[in-house]
Amino acid sequence: MRQEKSERICIIGGGPAGLSMAMYLEKAGYTNYEILEKNAWVGGKCNSPEYHGKRYEMGAIMGVPSYYAVHDVEEFCGITHDGPSLNRNYKTLDGKVYDPFDTKKLSNIPRLLKMKNQTKKLARLLETRYQGYDINGHRGVSDGKYEGFDANGTGKWISGTNENLKDLALPFKDFCAKNGIDLVQDIWIGPFTAFGYGYFDEIPAAYVLKYLDFQTTMNFVKCNLWTWKNGTQSIWEQLNDHLKNPAKLSTDIEKVERKDGRVYVTANGETKEYDKLIVTAPLQFFPDYADASDKEKELFGKIDYERYDVLACLIKKGQYPPISYYMFDNMEAKRLGHLMVYYCRWRGEEDQVITTYALRNHKDREEIPYDTAKQMVLDDMKICGSEVDKVINEKSWYYFPHVFSEDYANGWYQKVESMQGQNNTYYAGEIMGFGDMDETSEYSKELVYRFFNSDDYKPVF
Ligand SMILES: Cc1cc2nc3c(=O)[nH]c(=O)nc-3n(C[C@H](O)[C@H](O)[C@H](O)COP(=O)(O)OP(=O)(O)OC[C@H]3O[C@@H](n4cnc5c(N)ncnc54)[C@H](O)[C@@H]3O)c2cc1C
Repeated sequence: MRQEKSERICIIGGGPAGLSMAMYLEKAGYTNYEILEKNAWVGGKCNSPEYHGKRYEMGAIMGVPSYYAVHDVEEFCGITHDGPSLNRNYKTLDGKVYDPFDTKKLSNIPRLLKMKNQTKKLARLLETRYQGYDINGHRGVSDGKYEGFDANGTGKWISGTNENLKDLALPFKDFCAKNGIDLVQDIWIGPFTAFGYGYFDEIPAAYVLKYLDFQTTMNFVKCNLWTWKNGTQSIWEQLNDHLKNPAKLSTDIEKVERKDGRVYVTANGETKEYDKLIVTAPLQFFPDYADASDKEKELFGKIDYERYDVLACLIKKGQYPPISYYMFDNMEAKRLGHLMVYYCRWRGEEDQVITTYALRNHKDREEIPYDTAKQMVLDDMKICGSEVDKVINEKSWYYFPHVFSEDYANGWYQKVESMQGQNNTYYAGEIMGFGDMDETSEYSKELVYRFFNSDDYKPVF
């Protein structure tokens, strides 16, 4: 039977997941949707405020050429990734520039050779032993299965079984030890821990490898990256402008009730009836405003998240960093709260905002209070020779929702996926794929493909 295209669909959240959901629904022929966004702007964690006529990044910064879903959005809006190229260097804890990958330094060579061999070994393992690892989303993984669009952007729907995929529930550190590839962590850590996604001894390998599949990691290594001149927020602002029904902003959802085969949403004092509900806002907080079932409460209560802090800084005159810097030695849990990376968006320019990044939490450690971590970062900037003159913006983000290894292995994703469609409710957003722009949008695409089609109709994207 063909799906009813006139169904009234309520999408909660106007970030990349919600806005791309609307785009894919439109492409599939559904136009009777509404996006409810609590902020007065769209984009969620793609947040690009302006300073002296230029936009800087408080949230998402970059993409890679394999961001196929983000590319769908670009095509839909007629835009492209036109931002400044990214360059980086590395600093020691005492602020000295160094290159941990310098092949000219003789003492580095044995370690670098081993690292190279282990990287090649990982590439082989991912193609063979862990075939199917890079399919978006996590359904089936802990049962040794995969299903979804292939990871090369061809739009082909593939599925299979592979018992070895169960290893992906292990913390990435244990996954590497099991496969004799410990040194690859020194490459993967930059775009993972520095980007706020937690530490390898606590985060399941599935999250690490689905985001940093082999090709994506190599793109990071080579700085083959995308940025947007007007910031990542501009992608989603443009998409919102191109949608048939732009997001309803400043919407405060007071209540969601699902009864008699319908969904009733009360927002800004008014109750509206819908046929379907798609939640892209953090599932952890769904029970705060919705008639969540015991199962929803139990499963969503297991979600953890990162406390990822960003400071937007003006630097003392003459001390501006020429490019961005990574501090590998601060990417260990024992250095929680310290500066891991600082981002210089416009190479060599002084009239700009430099953003700093730090994590404050780890599964087995006491959380560092916000103000303590902020002071640590300011001190670290001084040590690095770029003393902060003024902090003009700051945010502690609710970041990278995930579950830990035990819940992953016990089928958390299978349990949530088995609830898709029950009570006319669907779940999407970061937790279902991964906390980046592309995986969340790709998950939205798959959700539309899986549930808003029928045997005689498959949307073509
Ligand atoms: C500092 C930082 C750096 C990052 N760097 C990158 C990067 O370089 N590349 C990359 O790809 N990604 C990056 N990301 C991650 C990326 O921004 C997120 O993964 C992506 O925005 C997730 O999209 P989403 O729609 O699932 O969630 P969000 O972006 O969080 O959007 C959710 C939306 O739901 C809204 N909402 C929440 N609750 C409600 C409610 N009750 N009612 C209505 N609306 C609600 C929120 O206001 C928000 O607009 C970064 C993020 C941060 C914070």
